[in-house]
Amino acid sequence: MTLIWEQTFSIVETNRCDGFGGLRQRAWVEINLAALAYNVRQVKSLLSPKTALMAVVKADAYGHGAVLVAQTVLQAGASWLGVATVPEGIELRAAGIKAPILILGATHTKEQLQAIAQWQLQPTLCNLKQALVFSQTLEAINGDTLPVHIKLDTGMSRLGPLWEQAVEFVQLVQRLPHLRIASIYSHLATAESLDQTVMRQQQARFETAIAQIQSAGIPLPPLHLANSGGTLTDSSLHYDMVRVGLAVYGLYPAEHLRTALDLKPALQVKARVTQVKTIPPQTGVSYGHQFISDRELRLAVVGIGYADGVPRNLSNKMTVLIRGQRLPQIGAITMDQLMLDVSTIPDLQEGEVVTLLGQEGKEQISADDWASELGTISWEILCGFKHRLPRVAVGQPL
Ligand SMILES: *Cc1c(COP(=O)(O)O)cnc(C)c1O
Repeated sequence: MTLIWEQTFSIVETNRCDGFGGLRQRAWVEINLAALAYNVRQVKSLLSPKTALMAVVKADAYGHGAVLVAQTVLQAGASWLGVATVPEGIELRAAGIKAPILILGATHTKEQLQAIAQWQLQPTLCNLKQALVFSQTLEAINGDTLPVHIKLDTGMSRLGPLWEQAVEFVQLVQRLPHLRIASIYSHLATAESLDQTVMRQQQARFETAIAQIQSAGIPLPPLHLANSGGTLTDSSLHYDMVRVGLAVYGLYPAEHLRTALDLKPALQVKARVTQVKTIPPQTGVSYGHQFISDRELRLAVVGIGYADGVPRNLSNKMTVLIRGQRLPQIGAITMDQLMLDVSTIPDLQEGEVVTLLGQEGKEQISADDWASELGTISWEILCGFKHRLPRVAVGQPL
């Protein structure tokens, strides 16, 4: 799968929307490299020169395509990459990417450590057993010193020792051969909330732990705490690096953070009309006949469905854009296809492009719109687009 995927990515097309050629045959995702680069520069404009930007490209860069995104954001000024798993890191290295890569998720086996060392990835250290396995494995393979990043739990209750145990943990890791503490970090649980109470408590705990580590005579490595929400909130959360995912992709972690800076969504989802026809009144549409026409209507079939990542729960609730007009989706969304009421465009042709997410003229449909309709978050929407949809790069990054 990886191979096919890389081949798909290596085809960088220009902004050509007609014809049935290339990757744009049925349904596809367009990634605007210019928007990605713009977002990186916007985020960097919030940072002091001493704060590095890690672009978080886990989960195939939130569905945008990890290699393509990594190359673009590094060129635009990000200096680190964050991934969730070892294979995600290897995919970037195999594509020739040289920037430092932090694995944000947990790793714990010898095999994982060997791959980490071989591919020069940098693991998160979150418990003592893992630290021992890593140190011993490196000893056994006559390994060099491995940079490790200590993750503290300041209130997320996910990875890492509790912040009260930070000093003890750091001291123990420090004594282990072959491990070099390259950073100490923590992760915010409520950075998107208008109420900053929990975030400020986490920040205070982080600072307390750091002060204690410093008092114990341990030289401080670089520190980092903020995700997109923290980064857009204020500079006291920036420390030596910020780890930004969502904002790089051009979405805001929360409505109230829109004023912090201008961002452009980088991803658009498009598909083609595959058939157009007129149905009489009182005609049921799609599985279960959840939609029944109340008049004669013009119906279009579109070649995209829930197996591509269009959530079935949007059936009868979503709109799409054609020729800059907003049109309602009707009936149940099926695995590979969905239907539209296109009565307002009587001359619509088969093969025309439908925008499911993205912009056409003044009209825009964003991942936030889908997320609020579904009671979820834009992060999940972005990650939902399947590999069946080719990713097509558009826009020059600079
Ligand atoms: C995913 C992740 C991020 C990025 O979060 P965004 O809200 O998308 O900016 C940062 N840090 C860690 C540890 C993460 O897991």
